Amino acid sequence: KSKYDVIIVGGGPIGLACGLSAQRAGLTYLILEKGCLTNSLFNYPLNMTFFSTSEKLEIGGIPFVSNNAKPNRQEALEYYRRVAFSNQLRIQLFEEVLNIYPENDEYRVQTSKGQYQASHLIICTGFYDIPLLMNVPGENLPKVTHYYKDPHFYAGQKVLVVGANNSAADAALETWRKGADVTLVVRGSELGRIKYWTKPDLENRINECSIKALFNTTVKEVRESEVVLLTPEGESRIENDFVIAMTGYQPNFSFLKKAGITLSDDDKQYPTYDAETMETNLKNVYLAGVVCGGMDTHIWFIENSREHADKIIEKIKTDI
Ligand code: FAD
Repeated sequence: KSKYDVIIVGGGPIGLACGLSAQRAGLTYLILEKGCLTNSLFNYPLNMTFFSTSEKLEIGGIPFVSNNAKPNRQEALEYYRRVAFSNQLRIQLFEEVLNIYPENDEYRVQTSKGQYQASHLIICTGFYDIPLLMNVPGENLPKVTHYYKDPHFYAGQKVLVVGANNSAADAALETWRKGADVTLVVRGSELGRIKYWTKPDLENRINECSIKALFNTTVKEVRESEVVLLTPEGESRIENDFVIAMTGYQPNFSFLKKAGITLSDDDKQYPTYDAETMETNLKNVYLAGVVCGGMDTHIWFIENSREHADKIIEKIKTDI
């Protein structure tokens, strides 16, 4: 078993920020990431542009130079990879943390490849691994995706986009621009949180009927060649080739619970942690990054959660 001062679970931007802070503080640390480096960002839509400006995505005070004010996914991958490698961050990729166990005032970390021992843990596992499902028949058909990638795939196809926020807006506009016949289904009566430069574009496409938008509408069933919708006028069926369900994501609550971290009883399921130190109800186990928000996945982002790293490492330093 290897022994560390800190094991960091998750190699997203915030996990890397924690690694940088730990390294600078002279602590022994290891980042364990279940996928590739910055796995969530890698799985974002290919043409995605961040809503944050590049300096707000910086970690460890290392400059992020991008051509435009708002960098795209490709630039962000480039930045975080360079930060990780040029600082020789200790990170093991494609190694999933399965569980953590308290053991002799420390923790044993069980991964898909081995076991480690650490006195402190930081959990920064994000929220992008588990989609919020529509829970309707047909959702598991291969024509339904919760991870939209590349608009070209949908050229000439009848596409239903489900959702009212940024991801749905981007998917609807991009696929329409590549020649898809797009219907946007919105559960509420209006569009939601959409980047201020994207919203008018979508509204104009809806107003000119290039993209059909159905408000106060939900999906009842997905079938091979059609979808059944529940509209204010009753049930309606439309022809369909593909469904892009941009219905949101949620943190891995069962992982947190299994580890022993308690969650609030309400539907937000906020994990328990001290806002000053970020320590959870488990001694020496900390939370960092967007996992902190529970189901409120839009309250934390890189800009306001990167500071968790220094805060936590300061606290750990006082213990060691
Ligand atoms: P993540 O980046 O999600 O990293 C968590 C990592 O943990 C992942 O790599 C995951 O593979 C890994 N992991 C999970 N479980 C385990 C396990 N058991 N063992 C090992 N590894 C594990 N934020 C912004 O600040 N600005 C933006 O413009 C912005 N745009 C966004 C656009 C989209 C489409 C989405 C979905 C999110 C966006 N966000 C944005 C939010 C953004 O995801 C987060 O701010 C950022 O990724 C959070 O970093 P994180 O390190 O907390 O989590």
